[in-house]
Amino acid sequence: MKYCKRCVMPETRPGIKFDENGVCYPCLNVEKRKKTDWTKRAEELKILCDKYRRNDGYYDCIIPVSGGKDSHFQTYVMKEIYKMHPLLVSVCDWFTHTKAGEHNIRNICEAFDCDLLRFNTSPLTLKKMIRISFEEFLAPTWPIDLAIYSVPLKIAYQMKIPFIIYGENIAYEYGGPDAKETYSAKDQIKNDVVKEIDWNWWFERGVTKKKIEYIKYPLKEILDTLEPIYLSYFYPWDGMKNYQIAKRFGFHDSNGEWNREGFIENYDQIDSIGYVIHAQLKYPKFGHQRATDVACYWIRNGYITREEGIKLVKENDHKFDPKSVEDFCYFTGYSEKEFFEVVERFYNKDIFEKTDCGWKLKDPIWEQEKIR
Ligand SMILES: [Zn+2]
Repeated sequence: MKYCKRCVMPETRPGIKFDENGVCYPCLNVEKRKKTDWTKRAEELKILCDKYRRNDGYYDCIIPVSGGKDSHFQTYVMKEIYKMHPLLVSVCDWFTHTKAGEHNIRNICEAFDCDLLRFNTSPLTLKKMIRISFEEFLAPTWPIDLAIYSVPLKIAYQMKIPFIIYGENIAYEYGGPDAKETYSAKDQIKNDVVKEIDWNWWFERGVTKKKIEYIKYPLKEILDTLEPIYLSYFYPWDGMKNYQIAKRFGFHDSNGEWNREGFIENYDQIDSIGYVIHAQLKYPKFGHQRATDVACYWIRNGYITREEGIKLVKENDHKFDPKSVEDFCYFTGYSEKEFFEVVERFYNKDIFEKTDCGWKLKDPIWEQEKIR
């Protein structure tokens, strides 16, 4: 497996590209970020805000939120810096939520004095779709992620609040298909978090049209009336800094409550226990998961060295967090044995070999770089 020469990202990340020196595009983009005129970008955002700002008391933008550190940062920027009047929209799942997560979603409303609209797909349909996408392509949170991308846009259209503030452009910041530097989030659906699937495929598996109509990505005619943007185009995106700002406004991390195995931080995606299984299930397919992702951000932003990153990946990336497996199984109705039987089917034999101690990466970065 080929890895980026600057961070620890392998070539198996869907859509990632490397330059002729073996450096991945997200690393190069961080370099580009240093030369960006952020004062000018902040001014561009002000012009956009002024275009949509209202004085009649009605909401003038929508912020899709989970309650996490980035949601806090998005709300902080729009409310405190640009003095907008946002409606927060949250798409929830039915996994068990942490105490920190419950605190945070309430905190974001309280700290910034914002109204919140929550959307939940029916648990019965959600369970059915999660089981299908888990068994057929090992991406169980597919329906949740689709709803996270689609529902705020549908609500924006119906409530006539066309200005929608997303956080980071995942494809551009972390690598993915259709990775271009743009402020417009209209093409967010193409970033590969939500793989494109023909709707008939779902109908054939017993999911009815009634149940998926609202979580489908909106049609172009609807999108054309909206202005969804990425805040990461206007502000240099740094999860660690967002975390620090969020904490100043009362955000709680999961420290002490849920110390996740295989994770190297305790401040990202900490609200829903079963949901984080999606991050861990990248491992059998692509040979890397959360520790790699987070180590890459930290290396790019200068918090750790590449060598420290490699050690963190070696120590953590192969682990499944038992609590998230348990919670995922509790909601979806699998036994843990059944869960791991499904996972077993998806190990990519090009990059893994099966040994007496389980699946091992054939050519991991720590062996390539001779790091113990
Ligand atoms: Zn890189």
